[in-house]
Amino acid sequence: MELFESAPEAGFRAEIQAFLAAHLPASLRRKVLHFQRLEKADFVLWHNILADHGYAGPIWPKDYGGTGWNAIQRKIFDEECFLGGAPRLIPHVNMICPVLQRYGSAAQKARFLPRVWRLQDWWCQGYSEPGAGSDLASLKTRAERRGDVYVVNGQKTWTTWAHWADWMFCLVRTGSGKPQASISFLLIDMKSPGLSVRPIISTDGVHDLNEVFLDDVQVPVENLVGEENAGWTIAKFLLAHERTDLAGIGLCKRFLSFARRAMGPLLAHAPTPADLRLRDRLVQLELDVMAHEWTVLRVLSADDSGEAAGAAASILKIRSTELQQSITALMLDCAGPQGLRHLREAREQDWDQGPGAGLPVDPLHHALVAHYLDWRKVTVFGGTTEVQKNIVGKTVLGL
Ligand SMILES: Cc1cc2nc3c(=O)[nH]c(=O)nc-3n(C[C@H](O)[C@H](O)[C@H](O)COP(=O)(O)OP(=O)(O)OC[C@H]3O[C@@H](n4cnc5c(N)ncnc54)[C@H](O)[C@@H]3O)c2cc1C
Repeated sequence: MELFESAPEAGFRAEIQAFLAAHLPASLRRKVLHFQRLEKADFVLWHNILADHGYAGPIWPKDYGGTGWNAIQRKIFDEECFLGGAPRLIPHVNMICPVLQRYGSAAQKARFLPRVWRLQDWWCQGYSEPGAGSDLASLKTRAERRGDVYVVNGQKTWTTWAHWADWMFCLVRTGSGKPQASISFLLIDMKSPGLSVRPIISTDGVHDLNEVFLDDVQVPVENLVGEENAGWTIAKFLLAHERTDLAGIGLCKRFLSFARRAMGPLLAHAPTPADLRLRDRLVQLELDVMAHEWTVLRVLSADDSGEAAGAAASILKIRSTELQQSITALMLDCAGPQGLRHLREAREQDWDQGPGAGLPVDPLHHALVAHYLDWRKVTVFGGTTEVQKNIVGKTVLGL
């Protein structure tokens, strides 16, 4: 394992920095660095800029238009994008595309993959149901084959951005045997009659999540991916991609640099014992992020595919999300009393109350409560911390 970048890697980093300096729109950068909510149009704009430069599918194989980057290059790209204030890559692109590339029919590949490249189709993930989250295999949404269509009935929940989506990749029950052996993977058009979406408002007051109801929804059989009742294997393949999102490093570094800046005035003149404790927390977290980064590098150098499997993916997910939560808590604490108000509108794009507007505080601090609340979710989605610990216990400790 190499702790220091080689000359070509440093050159690659400089290339990505130059790309961001030249092509990341200032309006998007400002929104991201000011903790403002991004709209669908913001993601589409950024995704298309990436596509113009061949960067829209960093994890795709080259045959499909991907970059062909190795795992270290992908880490550098992620890190620089986060540090530079770029919007994150749409996670669903990195989930459905590898699935279609591996398991899709020729017709499915031809129909869907080019549209994802330009984000002409927005996808959502229809896995979780009430009562089937961690225990996904107990899902109840049923698809019954009638001639050339499946008729789907059931409910999905926590479906991120379903209200923006054109398509949903969905797990449905198609048999009555062993739970894992009777699940299929279907692609469902969100405009299908009988499909409805209801918002869920999260603790930070935002509408990203949804319930999706399926009431006699007809799905053409050609939208089945892989074999009927073989969806569990595909579902696990996709989850492995979801959990190997190692981009936490750049995010942690960006948040730490915010905390460091916010702490400057506290430490400049006669810091109180409370200020010094904040400084200690910052230093400890900087060390923890450095140690985490080395773990990431160790995993990446062991497997150049960048697909940290099994326990490694779980360990990275646990650690990176714990760090993100600790750092977002520190950011809030640095704001002191200024960070007490939950000003939900401070994360909206049109909200721009600079100090000139008569506010005696740093306007960025108003967004920190919502930002802190928003970050509580990361230890839940993509498999909760407890469930990841079970995987580590089973595969590493043999419990
Ligand atoms: C912000 C957000 C976005 C999401 N987006 C999507 C999406 O787009 N599509 C989608 O399909 N799903 C999505 N989810 C759902 C997510 O995958 C589930 O929330 C997650 O899998 C946990 O399931 P659950 O919420 O049903 O909790 P449960 O499974 O009911 O768990 C409740 C609690 O019990 C614990 N627990 C459960 N089983 C065990 C066990 N065996 N051992 C120890 N502890 C256990 C859990 O850790 C948790 O603390 C999203 C969730 C969030 C928070």
